[in-house]
Amino acid sequence: GEHQSINLNALADEYLQIAYQGLRAKDKGFTVELATDFGADLPLLEVIPQEIGRVLLNVYNNAFYAVRQKQKTTNFDYRPKVALQTRQENGRILIRVSDNGTGMPESVKEKIFQPFFTTKPTGEGTGLGLSLSYDIITNGHGGSLLVESQEGEGSAFIIELPNPGVE
Ligand code: ADP
Ligand code: MG
Repeated sequence: GEHQSINLNALADEYLQIAYQGLRAKDKGFTVELATDFGADLPLLEVIPQEIGRVLLNVYNNAFYAVRQKQKTTNFDYRPKVALQTRQENGRILIRVSDNGTGMPESVKEKIFQPFFTTKPTGEGTGLGLSLSYDIITNGHGGSLLVESQEGEGSAFIIELPNPGVE
């Protein structure tokens, strides 16, 4: 089908730069530390690149939103940070996107994969990003999409994809 062999590190970095430029275009005064840790020797992945790109873009945009939101609502010295990590582990490929933004209470965390669930004001979010992302990763690619979050501390989204080199 539309699956292609791709270098995940290159794809993940490309979309991180796109998301970061989008953020800078919206708010030139905002600075965020970007930390990247690209796994060495990752195999080429058989994926639909545009779809994985959509997932990454949404997860990055959510992370940038969360750190920007935290900065707007915090007085103490706060250094916004978004980190991207890729690695292979136990026959899976992992992409972890973490932020030290607002985090989520349990009541939000349990609803984020539902279509149209958003905590953002009208015009800033449709609530479709994570439900679509979940569908792309699970049904579309046989992977899983996991979340960890601590209210006030930050969040991490972990995309797990099957490793094509491991049966
Ligand atoms: P949208 O971004 O349009 O609101 P999403 O499906 O992408 O829709 O996300 C749903 C909700 O999940 C967000 O409105 C927000 O409440 C929460 N969320 C997602 N990512 C994060 C994050 N990194 N930090 C805090 N909250 C998040
Ligand atoms: Mg979103």
